[in-house]
Order: sequence, then C-alpha cells, then structure tokens
Amino acid sequence: MKILLLGSGGREHALAWKIAQSEKVEKLFIAPGNAGTANCGENVPIGVNEFEKLKSFVTENSIDMVVVGPEDPLVNGIYDEFKNDIRTKDIPVIGPSKAGATLEGSKDFAKGFMQRHNIPTARYKTFDGNTLEEGLDFLETLKAPYVLKADGLCAGKGVLILPTLDEAKKELKEMLGGMFGNASAQVVIEEFLSGIECSVFVLTDGKNYKILPEAKDYKRIGEHDTGLNTGGMGSVTPVPFATKEWMRKVEDRIIRPTVEGLAEENIEYKGFIFFGLINVGDEPMVIEYNCRMGDPETESVMLRLKSDIVDLFEGVAKGDLDKRTIEFDERAAVCVMLVSGGYPREYKKGYPIKGIENVEGSIVFHSGTSVKDGEIVTSGGRVIAVSSYGRDKAEALQKSFEEAQKIEFTDKYFRRDIGQDL
Ligand code: ATP
Repeated sequence: MKILLLGSGGREHALAWKIAQSEKVEKLFIAPGNAGTANCGENVPIGVNEFEKLKSFVTENSIDMVVVGPEDPLVNGIYDEFKNDIRTKDIPVIGPSKAGATLEGSKDFAKGFMQRHNIPTARYKTFDGNTLEEGLDFLETLKAPYVLKADGLCAGKGVLILPTLDEAKKELKEMLGGMFGNASAQVVIEEFLSGIECSVFVLTDGKNYKILPEAKDYKRIGEHDTGLNTGGMGSVTPVPFATKEWMRKVEDRIIRPTVEGLAEENIEYKGFIFFGLINVGDEPMVIEYNCRMGDPETESVMLRLKSDIVDLFEGVAKGDLDKRTIEFDERAAVCVMLVSGGYPREYKKGYPIKGIENVEGSIVFHSGTSVKDGEIVTSGGRVIAVSSYGRDKAEALQKSFEEAQKIEFTDKYFRRDIGQDL
C-alpha cells in the first residue's frame, strides 16, 4: 500500500514513524515533511493546502490512502476536494469532511453542537459586531476570570482569559473590532472552568470508534506553567486522574454522543477527534474539539499504540473499525520539546543541530528542522521532541531529560518540570 501523509511537524514525524512500522506499507510519502520524516519515507515538496498538486501527485503515483496531520487542510476541505474529483474520489482521506472539521474551525459551531447533544461544556453565548452591547451585558452576569474566544482558527492565540471585567470588556471590543481579522468576527464568551486538563483522542469511521491513550500537554513556555502559551512544550501519557471510571464517563457523556451526534447531523467524519477536556470536581467537561491529533501529544501517544496504525486507518476507510483490534503498551511515555531560545516570541533560525546520533535511550522526532548544505539546522520555534518510554512517568522523563542534554543547538531551551504536577 502507498500512503501520502500531509504535514511537517513533530506530530507528522511521529505518525510517519508509526506508519512506517506497518507491514502493509510499501511506500510512504510525506508532503512537505521535515528532516526527520525523510528517515521514514520520501519527502515531497508540496504544501498541505496545494490541493490540485496533491491530487495530481496522488493520481500519478497510485497512492492508496492520504493521511492528514494538521487542521488547516481539513478546515479548508481537503476531504471534500478529493471526494469530488473523478481522479481521487475512491482514495480514502483519513480526516473529517469540511463540515466535520468545523468542530475545530468554528468555536461557535462546536459549542452549539455540544448544546444540541447534551455534551458537558462551559455555559456560553456568541456575539458579533451587531450584538456588542449584549456581549458587554453578558460579561456582567459572569464571574472573573473571563474567557473570550475568537470563533475561527487563530493558531492557538485566539483565546483570552482576563482577570477583570474592565479588561474583558476592552478585549471584547477589540476582538469584535477585527483584532484577529475575520476569525474574531464572532466571539464566544464562556464561563471559566477550573480543573486539570487532559487530551483524549479517538479514531472514528463515522459510526464506530477506538479510544487512543490519553495525554496531558504543557502549553506555557515557563516552568510551573508560567509565561506565554506555546504550541506545546511536552506531553505525558497515561494521565493518573483518567482512571477507568473517569474514562467511562468520558466515553458515555462525551465520546459516544459526539460520534452519534455527527452521524445524526449527517456530517461525514472519518479521522481523529481530539477532545480537549477539563476535570472539574471529577467530572469531565469539554473545553474544545480539534479535528486532528495533538502536537506534542502524538509524540508520546504513538509510543503507546501497539497495534498497526495502518490497519486502523483501513478500518476507518472501510467503515469496519469495530472489527479491528487496538492494543496499548502498558508503559508510560513522555515527550520533552526542545525549542529555540526566544520562542514563542522572536527567535533565530538556521542554527546547526548536533548530537542527534548520540541519543540512545529515546526516540527523536523532528519538528522545526530542515537540511541546509547537508546539515540539519533549526527552522522553527519548536525544534525537536525527545520521546521516551519508562516503567513509569518518572523513569520516562529522566530518560528524555538525559538524552535532551546530548542534542545541541544555540539557545536551546526546554522545560524541566514536564509531568511533575501529575
Ligand atoms: P489550542 O492552542 O489548543 O488549539 P485554542 O486556541 O483552540 O487552543 P482552546 O483550547 O479552546 O483554544 O483554549 C485554549 C486554552 O484556554 C485551553 O487549553 C484552556 O487552558 C484555556 N481555556 C479555554 N476555555 C476555558 C474555560 N472555559 N475555562 C478555563 N480555561 C479555559
């Protein structure tokens, strides 16, 4: 089987690593990929949103399946593009339809969906430029802190949590005034929920689903969750509070109603659903949906997936996921992200990365790397994920921290407190 994987981050390197282990795979292509994915298959210089070029590549190279890593092409409708083209209509795309990806692409849609299907989430209301006054009044009915969310995709920057009513009112005016362009033409205002967050991942064929290992990610740049938000500084799986009983609540109240709700609303969904959950007094509630795997959660979760991921993808494509088995490694797995100094603010790129070949006890996934004159160099804020197994979380973390020291590049930074709050 020939597979084309789309994306170029650490998530895609981890997916490529797992896909390449499958006996069903004859050839793996990654578009556009990075310096790490080149070790799992062949990189192809096509962007994830270049649908015409991707369709031609798939046709000319007899690709049997397309796996989509990031949200952008999904929200832009890659599933539907392939389905509506005579050349590619029979090639399965692992990822939701454009309508399905709206669960991530519009926070207002996601909140409405949860309300329609009685899925536990924070109380909310949505406002636009014409209802600013009502929005300001609604803020007065809530308690601090105040949560404002731009409706559309903002690369993780569209959520503001404000400590005072005055700040919340000021930001609401700015958001509706075009702070995030069209993405904040509508703003969701919701109740603040207090608790620990946990990411739960599901693979669905639209009817059946399989639950993957859950993970916790670390978003802030500074230790003890301080400083600015990043794409993610590390992840840990399993999560201690996600007990069997808690996960049963998640499945009964959140996962099943979501999959059934999508089917009821005739929304085609054949791919990953990422449930961003928060544990409020031992009750799971949904903070957000994403229509793809998480990054850096994939860089730990893939380590714990024992089953052949391509067999699961075939189940998704054929609609017989219930007949496929999913097995997990009982060990813990973690990922520690090495980032460029300065990130998530300004940082320099192009520094040579040395010492990757000395890493023995961990698995290295490339995130922002590229090859320049035959040398691997930094090319993004998040540069390399160092992922490890351990009998428990502490052992896995110790390995990642030790191996992280062996990789060198100018201004390298990583958080040394990943997983320590669990
Ligand atoms: P991501 O970067 O994960 O894609 P996003 O921009 O899609 O984020 P959300 O995940 O909805 O936005 O919110 C970002 C973060 O803000 C959450 O991970 C959570 O920490 C916090 N948050 C969002 N909603 C709430 C809420 N109702 N109560 C408390 N914290 C919240």
